[in-house]
Amino acid sequence: MAQDKVIIFDTTLRDGEQVPGASLTKNEKIQIALQLEKLGVDVIEAGFPMSSPGDLISVSEIAKAVKKPIIAGLCRAVRKDIDACREAFKKTSKGRIHTFIGTSPQHVHYITRTTEEEVLRRAIDAVKYARNYCGDVEFSAMDATRTDFDYLCRIVEETIKAGASTVDIPDSVGYAEPYEYGNLIKKLMNTVPNINKAVIAVHCHNDLGMATANSLMAVLNGARQVECTINGLGERAGNAALEEIVMTMKVRNDIYRTTTNINTEEIYRTSKLVTRLTGMPVQPNKSVVGENAFAHASGIHQDAILKHESTFGIMTPQSIGIPGHELVLTARSGKHALQHRLNYLGYKIGEAQLPDTYAKFLTIADKKKEVFDEDLVHMMEGNDASSHGIYNLDYIYVATGNKIVPTATIEISKDGNKNTKAATGDGPVDAMFKAINEATGEENIKLTDYQIKAVTKGTEAMGEVNVRISRDNNEVTGRGASTDILEASAKAYLSAITKLEKETGKKAESKAAVKKANKKKAAKK
Ligand code: MN
Repeated sequence: MAQDKVIIFDTTLRDGEQVPGASLTKNEKIQIALQLEKLGVDVIEAGFPMSSPGDLISVSEIAKAVKKPIIAGLCRAVRKDIDACREAFKKTSKGRIHTFIGTSPQHVHYITRTTEEEVLRRAIDAVKYARNYCGDVEFSAMDATRTDFDYLCRIVEETIKAGASTVDIPDSVGYAEPYEYGNLIKKLMNTVPNINKAVIAVHCHNDLGMATANSLMAVLNGARQVECTINGLGERAGNAALEEIVMTMKVRNDIYRTTTNINTEEIYRTSKLVTRLTGMPVQPNKSVVGENAFAHASGIHQDAILKHESTFGIMTPQSIGIPGHELVLTARSGKHALQHRLNYLGYKIGEAQLPDTYAKFLTIADKKKEVFDEDLVHMMEGNDASSHGIYNLDYIYVATGNKIVPTATIEISKDGNKNTKAATGDGPVDAMFKAINEATGEENIKLTDYQIKAVTKGTEAMGEVNVRISRDNNEVTGRGASTDILEASAKAYLSAITKLEKETGKKAESKAAVKKANKKKAAKK
């Protein structure tokens, strides 16, 4: 018998990106969206167009960049939010307007400060209004799990009547329990008369560690769209993790009897990309994508797994795309071996760019002897360092020791302008960062997190540094990699400052744009 398909709706770029410090640039969002397309997600929620002009542009650019997935834009059940979404979808035919309003007593009375009847009216109005512009409208009854059941039934029935083709029953606050949540979906399926006219979606949060279990119980009871994120990223304790949902349905197909369009062999690569770009690390014991997820440590287990993989392994590392045997390149590897490996890692290098890329590779290979996949990824990530508005690290000189005052001299350049500064500090990193502050003219920057790790093996390994900095209310992350950890630290710090300047520049611009628009409106009146 043909199995039902479950629609995978990824919200890494919306709910995931809302996490403090995980903010992404437009280009980083596009990079993730393209990887999500390769992964095979059906819907990409790309942002919240009304929240900022930058978000609106990102949503529209993502819709342009990807071909297959539907692109969803989130908006409150308010006409001006829907207009922003419509603006973002001007040039695409695959947009989905996703509108929401809180339906629990807490949300109706404390957030919207109105009555249940008025919330119902606004929900219907929003769906109808959105349908004027877009054939694909999703409605979410925010905080559905704390909403009165009879009222929820009315909302679902009426929004479907108004034209919603997907209705989401989110557990926005992570309060539901699997048995109860499964029952809620089942009761809705049995009570709402027109429920077959829409896809029922679920959006679960992990506040009690139940997001995956709740989503799957909903699937067992008839939900056919799961909203989730890569690595379980998302508000507070996060959203249901895509990799857990998809692999559970696959490994336990005997129970779920459903399929998805996900190419599971892209899971690992997607997880790594999201980790790298958001700077949000995955815990080592995380299901499916954690570093230890396939590491059998106990002697008894290791012995068994060598005898037969099925003894303790329920899925293979290959099934999520962990390369079985890593190919190690050295200085003796040829140009085409490099091209082939980069291709495998998702980087298209044409014959024209090959000599330059190979030269970079040889510099690393000379320092490191063995070049691993992670080294190549970091080499490629560093490639975009010459464009407009980006700080380049020209050189650093650091003197340190236990009996001298650590001193750093750095030279940086941006758009062709060079600047050299020196500073002393409590340690070599502190001295370097102070010198960078002076050279960039940045003040009041707080370093809120600094992490260093070896990305490959051996003492000559590539070191990766992740920093998080804040100024006023803006917080960004930056990362840098090098065989020298001080250089990696300086690069990470500079990349964070570049991001901060772009973000705050963007905000200043958008404020100016809003002012301009208001002036125009005033002039018209
Ligand atoms: Mn959410």
